[in-house]
Order: sequence, then C-alpha cells, then structure tokens
Amino acid sequence: MRKHCVDCEALSPATTTDYTLIGSRHAWRVTRTRSEAGETAFEWRCPACWQRYKDRKAEAPAATPSVAPRPPPKPSTPSGEQAAVMAGKLFDKARDALSKPRTKRPR
Ligand SMILES: [Zn+2]
Repeated sequence: MRKHCVDCEALSPATTTDYTLIGSRHAWRVTRTRSEAGETAFEWRCPACWQRYKDRKAEAPAATPSVAPRPPPKPSTPSGEQAAVMAGKLFDKARDALSKPRTKRPR
C-alpha cells in the first residue's frame, strides 16, 4: 500500500509492506500521532521531509506549559458583621415604625 508524505504529499514507492518502505532502501519514516478526537493516525514522511521534520523538532524549544493569568480575587461579599449591622438597622427601622404613635391625618 502506497503512502502519501504528509508534508510534500509525495507518493511513496510501491512496496509490499510498510517495513520495506521504512527500510534503508526507501528510508521513509512513519510517526504515530493522536488526533484531537483521540484517534491514532500515522504520518508518513519521505526522507527529505523527515529530515526537515527532525530539524524542526530539534530547533523547536520544549513546549512550556502556558501559565494562565489568574483572575483577580473577587470583591469580598458583605461579611457576616456587615450583614448583622444591616439587619440591626432594619430592625431599628421596623421598631421605630411600630412604636410611633399613629397620627391621624387632618381632614
Ligand atoms: Zn515529503
């Protein structure tokens, strides 16, 4: 079965087996990759592209894990103390309203 070079799309020589293709006579190389879908795929490269591929890999610095900037801390929600104060104020208001003598509106 003939392969296509993933880089230059050259068609591999016709060989009886893949082993013949990666042998010293043809010197093609195959790498196993995993697609985003998690499927295993094979990438075939002709000798020339394999050489470039190797050079690229050698030059490329090791992938550094990208550090995501941390989101700023959330503004703190009213603390328990503040909530208590607010509740106390509401209570005072309600008490004042209840304790006030009812005044009849002048007609
Ligand atoms: Zn190629």
